[in-house]
Amino acid sequence: MSERIFLSPPDMCGLEEKLVSEAFASNWIAPLGPFVDRFERELGAYLGGKHVCALASGTSALHLGLLVLGVKSGDRVYCSDFTFSASCNVIRYCGAEPVFIDSESASWQMDPILLQQKLEEDARAGRLPKVVVVVDLYGIPANFEKIGAICAQYDIPILEDSAEALGSLRNGRLCGTFGRVSGFSFNGNKIITTSGGGALVSEDEALVLKARFLATQAREKRPYYHHETIGYNYRLSNLLAAVGCGQMTVLGDRIAKRRAIFARYQEMLGDIEGISFMPEPEGAVSNKWLSVIGIDYSILKKSPEDVRQAMESFNIETRWAWKPMHLQPVFERCDCVGGSVCESIFNQSLCLPSGSSLSMSDQARVCDALRKILLNT
Ligand SMILES: *Cc1c(COP(=O)(O)O)cnc(C)c1O
Repeated sequence: MSERIFLSPPDMCGLEEKLVSEAFASNWIAPLGPFVDRFERELGAYLGGKHVCALASGTSALHLGLLVLGVKSGDRVYCSDFTFSASCNVIRYCGAEPVFIDSESASWQMDPILLQQKLEEDARAGRLPKVVVVVDLYGIPANFEKIGAICAQYDIPILEDSAEALGSLRNGRLCGTFGRVSGFSFNGNKIITTSGGGALVSEDEALVLKARFLATQAREKRPYYHHETIGYNYRLSNLLAAVGCGQMTVLGDRIAKRRAIFARYQEMLGDIEGISFMPEPEGAVSNKWLSVIGIDYSILKKSPEDVRQAMESFNIETRWAWKPMHLQPVFERCDCVGGSVCESIFNQSLCLPSGSSLSMSDQARVCDALRKILLNT
């Protein structure tokens, strides 16, 4: 059996291990320390001078994002329907009500027209949302010119879920800078990783300070332990921040590699009738976190599950696209608009091995296997 090809494994450059050793040597083995400060500084500088709070996960960043934007029990919060459950689990953590908005087919991200319609309808009903969670899924930037203008009309802040989109651009502007608050993830499968981790980012320093306060058990500045608010233990470990500092030095390279992998899939598979590729909207430069292909059943007579299982027999990991939130039993009672666009993406898409360490020969193996499966040869 040939060696397994994984979907999106971590890709260390070597410096991470050295920096973790430094952290050990200094005995800063805590959820604070010089590497946490440095990681926050470097990420903030990369994003063009944003304030950053490093956290234990992307999920905790999104949770604190909703809290600092004032989401309370009973509030409505809109969210992209096509996403990973973490984007909207956090709405429930706040006791709030998710409302799902379908994708537009041009970008796969939140449809601005449906957003506008829903806001008009909810304004008439006197139940406008407190926040709109806009996701940049697979690293594809959402249509922020339109979405931003619509939300501004109603004075509703955007929480940008950029967990998958570090380094992606829309009209020259980086993802994670469009939301009033944004969240990143450094989970093991993301474009760079701290093993587990995340960050909350904002232009507004007060919001980031508030998040940091909540992330450290909402401990008031007094010599004894004094609490006036419910807090959380959400800070990133200094050891893991050392991994993040190593990874920051190769972020540009990792994005270039993922983009090259996507381009090679297009080259090597583009001639197969019935295969399509995820979009890169006008003005967008996506980090191509995962390469996602569409498989037209009417032409190829194969479902994503048929292909996934067949790829397993070649010891190659592939994965279904994210299953839309309105189809999740846990969210089935939630309000939603549309749903057919992301449902159809889900029904015919497959994520291919996309890790930045994927070699040319392994990628050729993926393409050969796919050809055999799809063309029955
Ligand atoms: C990974 C991810 C998250 C959650 O990040 P964690 O670090 O795993 O908690 C949230 N939203 C999206 C879209 C993600 O892909």
